[in-house]
Amino acid sequence: MAKTAKATKAVVKTEQVNPYEAMLERFNKAADILKIDERARKILSRPERIVRVNLPVVMDDGSTEVFEAYRVIHSTALGPSKGGIRYSMMVNEDEVMALAAWMTWKCAAVSIPYGGAKGGIKCEPRALSEGEKERLTRAYTAAMANVFGPDSDIPAPDMGTDDRVMAWIVDEYSKLNGNKFIPGVVTGKPLELGGSKGRKEATGRSVMLTTLLALKELLGENPEGLTVAVQGFGNVGSIAAKLLSQRGLKVVAISDRTGGYYNEHGILINQAILYRDQNDGVLEGFKGGEKISNKELLELNVDILIPAAVENVITKENAPHIKARLIVEGANGPTTPQADEILEDKGVWVIPDIIANAGGVTASYFEWVQNRRGHYYTEAEVNDRIDQIIKEAFERMLHKAFRHKVSLRLGAYLSAVERVAKGLELLGKF
Ligand code: NAD
Repeated sequence: MAKTAKATKAVVKTEQVNPYEAMLERFNKAADILKIDERARKILSRPERIVRVNLPVVMDDGSTEVFEAYRVIHSTALGPSKGGIRYSMMVNEDEVMALAAWMTWKCAAVSIPYGGAKGGIKCEPRALSEGEKERLTRAYTAAMANVFGPDSDIPAPDMGTDDRVMAWIVDEYSKLNGNKFIPGVVTGKPLELGGSKGRKEATGRSVMLTTLLALKELLGENPEGLTVAVQGFGNVGSIAAKLLSQRGLKVVAISDRTGGYYNEHGILINQAILYRDQNDGVLEGFKGGEKISNKELLELNVDILIPAAVENVITKENAPHIKARLIVEGANGPTTPQADEILEDKGVWVIPDIIANAGGVTASYFEWVQNRRGHYYTEAEVNDRIDQIIKEAFERMLHKAFRHKVSLRLGAYLSAVERVAKGLELLGKF
């Protein structure tokens, strides 16, 4: 009884953050500093288009389920809209709207010629059979046939989706378009179907790269031996952990939806990846470290914290207890605006999502370019191009932040919002 009361109290106390409002708060701060035209502010405060569909899918047992699905186009001011598709039970309209807007700012912050979008289907992907997932993906593609397109809106993988899902989208979309093979309609495809070398690792790679840049340029420290905790052990978290440990940092904690693992001597990341891949995609039962909770992981005494799972995990409740000196946002939107202020007061450097995880969309851009040219780059060529773009975006963020004496997040927003507002003006949208 007492336990229930305590739990209820904890829920009430937890910071409730609407991700779209969190996005707007940062956008408005940047718009105020830049004094952008009020008409641009009005346009960019809302998505251009919200498509919501209910998808009936025949399940393996013969029953029919109806799945709620979205595609939100936030802006096409700088090019066709770009953004992943998420399969998760947490998907809702506000979340997809926020994720779509973050894509606009991300593409603008790294200067690639895209607008921003995001898609989502409310489902538990791990509970679906391969066949059910394929039918659901094909139904979604058919419903979005007039939204997707290599010159209009280009999806990619996000949480709960992967290159297999992208391949089904290419097939369905190509069928719906007179059987022309149109690989450029999505990125993050398997290599055999026009995927790009380096794409799978690209998001984790930019997390690694921006961590090293921040250590060098902001903290003035040698990476060797510094400790790291990584929340989320999917595409982004596991690859960031692997690349950082290859560069001499010590990843002492990792976690996923099933909980966390701590080892003061450093987790053997390749072993953890192998374990996850042989255990239905989760770390549950991993013996390479002592069991900790996700909450404990965030508050560990480490040098660097990498949230690489979901939104709103660093809140005003736990921000005061965070001991890391550097936070590198692998996930989209992991830090709430109130937590941002607490971290800033504490002198914690936060490399914002729209820079730290932008390697994924940058590699996607090169995949799309390669599909259009029909000419494919080596992995080294792709990585060099991504590294160059991320480094330049990192420097632009620093320049804006130092010039306006604001946080790195606001610095990144300043460079992004300025570019999108200018695009709208040049297009004659107001
Ligand atoms: P993924 O599905 O491959 O992995 C997600 C991981 O997070 C899994 O290990 C899962 O168990 C874990 N997780 C889920 N809920 C959790 C919770 N409440 N607490 C702790 N762990 C939890 O997804 P991903 O592609 O690695 O994406 C992770 C984040 O990175 C998302 O915010 C996504 O939007 C962002 N992102 C991904 C890419 C990309 O290229 N994949 C690019 C940019 C940003």
